[in-house]
Amino acid sequence: MVSYKELGLVNTREMFAKAIKGGYAIPAFNFNNMEQLQAIIKASAETKSPVILQVSKGARNYANQTLLRYMAQGAVEYAKELGWEHPQICLHLDHGDSFELCKSCVDFGFSSVMIDASSLPYEENIALTKKVVDYAHQYDVTVEAELGVLAGVEDEVSSAVSHYTKPEEVVDFATRSGCDSLAISIGTSHGAYKFTPEQCTRDPKTGRLVPPPLAFDVLDAVMEQLPGFPIVLHGSSSVPQEYVDMINQYGGKLPDAVGIPEEQLRKAAKSAVCKINIDSDSRLAFTAAVRKVLAEKPGEFDPRKYCGPARDLMTELYKHKIINVLGSDGKAE
Ligand SMILES: [Zn+2]
Repeated sequence: MVSYKELGLVNTREMFAKAIKGGYAIPAFNFNNMEQLQAIIKASAETKSPVILQVSKGARNYANQTLLRYMAQGAVEYAKELGWEHPQICLHLDHGDSFELCKSCVDFGFSSVMIDASSLPYEENIALTKKVVDYAHQYDVTVEAELGVLAGVEDEVSSAVSHYTKPEEVVDFATRSGCDSLAISIGTSHGAYKFTPEQCTRDPKTGRLVPPPLAFDVLDAVMEQLPGFPIVLHGSSSVPQEYVDMINQYGGKLPDAVGIPEEQLRKAAKSAVCKINIDSDSRLAFTAAVRKVLAEKPGEFDPRKYCGPARDLMTELYKHKIINVLGSDGKAE
């Protein structure tokens, strides 16, 4: 048993309380490799933003969970080395799908876990969430739960259609499960193809897809039911068209990739939404930078020469999100 507190990590309780009061949101960035982690920590340290490092089941399978946990521990020390005196870094399990997985993360030094039982019937979702909460709270680990179903594909999590969260269920769910934060479904979606062309309109000037707006009426109704309760948005990448264009220009093929417009996320960040998950955007930045180097310098075979620029582009992306979308800069001095 390792406590996250010994590793210099923090849970989400205070982070979220401050974010709701201050009208901003905490970035939750997924990581699978060293370059991503370096970029996240560098961006957070330079902007003094609290940050949530997310590990998905897919990341655990790809990079090994032991290694990822030690990397997060190293991230705290790296942050201090960069001059961030009191780093506020949370290590969070993204989309935990069983009690056993959540327990193993709590025992292993995670400061926060998500139990995603949203695909189960309502009562089973409450029961499983409560079981995880009862365990995690003994160690002061915070728990995120999910109510409603997001469309899209993210690692092993996928659904063809979305079902908005029912505002009339949230009080009962939060009270009986005891969760610390709630991921809701209001039209965000996992992956780089968040909407089909049929769901969108097309901008006549640019020919680009314009996605349907998020269901802010559902968010408002949830906040009315649960005033001041921390709300989480998954699947909130914006799929920056500059990266999609770069990928397509240098031999990739991502037709009609589309995400959530940043102005809608800015609006959400000012509300009780205090955690916004961003994964696909960093994948796109990484891929765009690697493709550019390899296309322009076909003789290059040193991974540092293309992973380095990828890391730089991701750092720029993370800083942009922190400063211009979430507003979390300067909140962890
Ligand atoms: Zn998610």
